[in-house]
Amino acid sequence: MPELFIGGRWTTAVDGQVREIRCPADGTLVAVVDEGGPKDAAAALAAAREAFDRGPWPATPPAERGRLLLRVAALLERDKDAFARAESLDTGKRLVESAYDMDDIANCFRYFGHLAAGGGSGRVVDAAGPKIDSRVVYEPVGVCALITPWNYPLLQTAWKVAPALAAGNTFVLKPSELTPHTAVLLMRALTEAGLPPGAANLVLGTGAAVGAPLTEDVRVDLVSFTGGLATGRRIMAAAAPTVKKIALELGGKNPNIVFADAAFDAAVDYALMAVFVHSGQVCSAGARLLVDNELHDAFVDELVARARRIRLGGPFDEEARTGPLISAEHRAKVAAYVAAGLDEGAVLRCGGAPPDDPALKDGFFYLPTVLDDCTPNMSVVHDESFGPVLTVERFRGENEAVALANDTIYGLAGAVWTQDSGRARRVAGRLRAGTVWINDFHPYVPQAEWGGMKQSGVGRELGPAGLAEYQEAKHIWRNTEPVPQRWFE
Ligand code: NDP
Repeated sequence: MPELFIGGRWTTAVDGQVREIRCPADGTLVAVVDEGGPKDAAAALAAAREAFDRGPWPATPPAERGRLLLRVAALLERDKDAFARAESLDTGKRLVESAYDMDDIANCFRYFGHLAAGGGSGRVVDAAGPKIDSRVVYEPVGVCALITPWNYPLLQTAWKVAPALAAGNTFVLKPSELTPHTAVLLMRALTEAGLPPGAANLVLGTGAAVGAPLTEDVRVDLVSFTGGLATGRRIMAAAAPTVKKIALELGGKNPNIVFADAAFDAAVDYALMAVFVHSGQVCSAGARLLVDNELHDAFVDELVARARRIRLGGPFDEEARTGPLISAEHRAKVAAYVAAGLDEGAVLRCGGAPPDDPALKDGFFYLPTVLDDCTPNMSVVHDESFGPVLTVERFRGENEAVALANDTIYGLAGAVWTQDSGRARRVAGRLRAGTVWINDFHPYVPQAEWGGMKQSGVGRELGPAGLAEYQEAKHIWRNTEPVPQRWFE
């Protein structure tokens, strides 16, 4: 069955291109999929534009849109195993992690389904007297280009597709060329749930051939992108000539601050999870450990001892605790950051190489790595390596901890570990990040906004603000009894 979905029909690429998808855990062939190009992107845009300008979806009552999203959530639950398996084969991620993601994704559709249903008829502005009906209504932005990465393929997609549809938009989705399968399954679920043709379109292909044309085309009203900072900057520039709305989620270099009074065992446990889950390929990874000088030696010794024991393996290895990197190129990039850190004076405490286990030789695995004695000027400290690499810096006192934590161009997330609730509140308040965890790491809920300060992005996903990204506010003023005023007489 072809994998591009345009105007409600499954189709192959105009130029007949295909791509092999291989599992990063062992290199096995997952499938050969259609690979679109600029002509397919243009066809999908035409379909999305037609569906927005003349189709039923934007005018569908919010409550009905909400019900459709709830049906999608139910289909995701019904087909959870197939979705999770497809996600794991594309990403190499452990099946159990993909299964958690599918629960989160169903919850995301459910959340935006309820939010849409509660949309109502706008906000009455009761300021101009009884003869005026003044109301602000929230309309869809229009045609959205949704561009998503490979680390959490369907989760990042759901954070865009669910609010875009809740608000009444139509869209063209371009997933990462490396991880297309759950996007294909999602299109099937949207169709089964009853979404009209043209409202959802899917074009597989590269960023250059499919993503870039979407960001430039005048028919697109909004670009929502999750991925790397360099690509985000290019997209911002490409959207400027036609003044598109943009929403960007560009990752982070997130500090995990551990004070001497932290609950030791929990702080070590979560510091490991913060950076090594999904082998560090997480935008909110706690990749910078800032540890109180007093606690440093005991904390890092324990952390390193446990990091050495983390078992690597493929999606279906039930003993594995984390998986491979996405590609050979990405592993080479991670290794280069580690090498640069060592050149600049960091001390390798563990990892720093691919595993030597012959069973893992065909996958893109890299050992959990801890670099001690790091300083803020090192590239491995300030750039996003997006791999299983933890840098350790010491601090003395609250002010230095906050200064080090904020010494980054990013501002996505961060955490503080202390049993002093006053200090926890103070530090949380001073961190320049969109999310701060106190004595925890990584939880998020669809009800709360997610996004970054500084160069971590523009706008927010999830929460009411995540829906507002996909809406235009329109003020409608109705004079119920117009009478001549004798203007200019
Ligand atoms: P990219 O930013 O290149 O890719 C994200 C998405 O954007 C993909 O669908 C990609 O297509 C597409 N894309 C690439 N170039 C363009 C363009 N000019 N116009 C429109 N779309 C484009 O991320 P990478 O996959 O290359 O990863 C690079 C780095 O980004 C990582 O090492 C990591 O640091 C960071 N990253 C951050 C993520 C986050 O969650 N914030 C997620 C993933 C990566 P395709 O890949 O198909 O070519």
